[in-house]
Amino acid sequence: MRNFSLRAAALLPLSLLVFSCEQEPVVEVMEVATTAPRFMDFPTAKGGSATLGKNADGPAVTVAMAEYITGADSDEMGNTILFNNRGNKQLDFDFVPGQSLDGSDAISYYIDESRPSDDVPVEVSTDAIVRSMDTWDNVDCSDLDLFRVPTDGRATGFYAAAYGFGGSFNYVADVVHNGWLPAAFFDRLAPNGSRSILGVTFTLVFINPDGSFQDADNDGKGDVAWREIYYNDRFNWSNGSGIDIETVSLHEAGHGLSQAHFGKGFRKKDGSVQFSPRAVMNATYSGLQTEVDGTDNAGHCSNWANWPNN
Ligand SMILES: [Zn+2]
Repeated sequence: MRNFSLRAAALLPLSLLVFSCEQEPVVEVMEVATTAPRFMDFPTAKGGSATLGKNADGPAVTVAMAEYITGADSDEMGNTILFNNRGNKQLDFDFVPGQSLDGSDAISYYIDESRPSDDVPVEVSTDAIVRSMDTWDNVDCSDLDLFRVPTDGRATGFYAAAYGFGGSFNYVADVVHNGWLPAAFFDRLAPNGSRSILGVTFTLVFINPDGSFQDADNDGKGDVAWREIYYNDRFNWSNGSGIDIETVSLHEAGHGLSQAHFGKGFRKKDGSVQFSPRAVMNATYSGLQTEVDGTDNAGHCSNWANWPNN
């Protein structure tokens, strides 16, 4: 990571220059400000006795965090939402070996096909999501034993269920692609969220009887119960162009596998956004990106290289 930081630092002044030694066209760029995480409430009660915050058949869980990616023409960069403000303590969250609700250290995922996109056949979006999961699985520093739980039509979505968008409080898999939801779902998350947010990943964590986040392995990070990924059906989704499903799925699955946003965004004079460095985990969509390397690879490996022995 240190090398990447140095490289990013070295690139910054170059990015800000308004000329180039080559015969490139003159471009002016302005850094897009990254806003601080936003705080929101999620209605949980201490003791896990509330209707919300209790997984029907298992330990108490709650929604701890959401990370969203914005569209290229949005004024806002993708951001983080922290639920249930616990003072200024902003925990990171990760999966913990031995804690998975299916009893396995292999990482499972599920694709809910009951909320398809309006724009492409569900088989096409499912194939795109599967390709994105395979891409993360094929990063060779890690051994996730990633596997797909077959789609069987069951209801999914803890956060969706909490706010009347259908769903279920039950565990389904470690990472769930919950499907495409209407604009109103995204307006809950940010002002004009339905116009800016392409996709969002929620982190659900285990909570102790006193309502605090569980940290069974004492690594200073809350223990992830599972993650949920939702796509905004207000946008026009496609396979290989426009807003590419595989690209956004790869980004969200990156969050699903514990990666945070990365890279500084710059607005060019023509209105487009470019990133330094460009990465799958950039907070704003900047076109087709279906491979993992550089910082994405390093971030993934820092989380998973020793799994399940960390
Ligand atoms: Zn994101």
